[in-house]
Amino acid sequence: MIKNKAKNISILVFGKNNFIATLPDQIRYTTTFSVEVIDNLNQAMSRIQMTPPDIIFVQASLDGSMKLCSWLKKQTKLSWIYCILFEDRLQQLTDRNKYGWQRELEMSAAALKQGADAYIWYLIEEKTDHTLAELTANHGLILAQLTVGLRKAQKYQDLIRTNDILSAIALADSLTELNNRRALARHLPRQIKTARTQKTSLSLIILDIDHFKKVNDTHGHLVGDRVLQLLCQRLQHNLRSQDTPFRYGGEEFVILLANTTDDEALSVARRLNRLVSDEPFALSNKLTINITISLGTACLQAEDDDQGESLLYRADQCLLQAKTAGRNRVINSNYLSSNVSRLKAVSS
Ligand code: GH3
Ligand code: MG
Ligand code: MG
Repeated sequence: MIKNKAKNISILVFGKNNFIATLPDQIRYTTTFSVEVIDNLNQAMSRIQMTPPDIIFVQASLDGSMKLCSWLKKQTKLSWIYCILFEDRLQQLTDRNKYGWQRELEMSAAALKQGADAYIWYLIEEKTDHTLAELTANHGLILAQLTVGLRKAQKYQDLIRTNDILSAIALADSLTELNNRRALARHLPRQIKTARTQKTSLSLIILDIDHFKKVNDTHGHLVGDRVLQLLCQRLQHNLRSQDTPFRYGGEEFVILLANTTDDEALSVARRLNRLVSDEPFALSNKLTINITISLGTACLQAEDDDQGESLLYRADQCLLQAKTAGRNRVINSNYLSSNVSRLKAVSS
C-alpha cells in the first residue's frame, strides 16, 4: 500500500494504451494522485512546462522517450521531477537475454546517464506465462520506485513551501508589514518593463516624515514605531489598486503608481499629503500626534534606465526640494525641471 501524505501528487504517463494497461491497479485506478496520459513528445513537453508533474513514467518504445528524459534533466527548473523509464524496447530486451547481466548493467547505466532516475525492464509485447510472471514481479518494483518518487516530491514541496515563507520574510518589513527596499529592487525593474512593453505610464512617489526625530525624542522610540505603523495603515487604506507602497528606509516610503501619468501622480501625492496633515494620529485616549510628510513625484521617461535608478533619483531630488522649500508639500519633477530651466534662463 502506498501512503501518500503529500497533497496533489501528480503523475504524467508518457506512453500508449498497451503500456498503461499493464501498470499496477494502484496507479491506474487511484484517487490518491492525479494521473494524466500523453503519447506525443511536444504535447508532453509543453504540459510539463505549464504544470510540472511530480513523477513521470516513460515508455521507452514510444517515439521521443529518450529525448524527453534528457530534455527534462537539462531544464534546471524541472530537473527535480522523478523520471521512471520503462524499458519495453524489444531490441534491448533481446540483447539483455542474449548477452546477460553485464549487458543489462551497461544498459541501465546508459539510461540513468541519459536522464532517467529509475530504469525498469518491462516486457509487455508477448503475453506468455513467463512474461506475465515477470510483469507481476515488476509491479512490486514499480510501486517501490513510486514511493521513492513520492518521497522526493514531498521533500521538494516542503522545500518550496519553506522557500515561499523565507522569500515573504525577506521581502517584508517586520515593523510595518509593507514590502521592503529589497522588494522594491525586484519590483521596480519589472514594473518598468511592463510599462514599456504595454506602452503605459508609470510614476513613483517618495515620501518622508517631517521632523520625525522630534517625535522619537519627545515620546520615545516605541511611540515613534507606532506612528510609523499608523501612518502606513492610513496610506495603505487610501491607495488605489494599482499603487504599491514600500518602506524604503527608516521613515521614508516609496509608492509605485502603475498606469499613472505625471499629473495623476501629483494629485495622488497631494491627496496623501492632506490625508496625513489633516488628521492627527491617535496613539491612545490621551495621546494624539500631528505629523506631516514631504513628497516628491516623478514619471518614467524614455531615457530612464531599466532598473529605475534615474526615476528614483528624480523623485528623491523632488523630495529634497520639498524639504528645503519648507516641508509638508509635494514637488513634482516636471515642476522642478521647469523651475531649473527658468532659473537658468534668469541667470544667463
Ligand atoms: P526631516 O524633516 O528632515 O526628514 O527630519 P527628520 O527628523 O524626520 O529626519 P532625520 O533623518 O534627522 O531623522 C529621521 C529619524 O527617523 C531618526 C530615526 O531615529 C527615526 N527612525 C528611523 N527609523 C525608525 C524606526 O523604525 N522607528 C523609530 N521609532 N524611529 C525611526
Ligand atoms: Mg524625516
Ligand atoms: Mg528620512
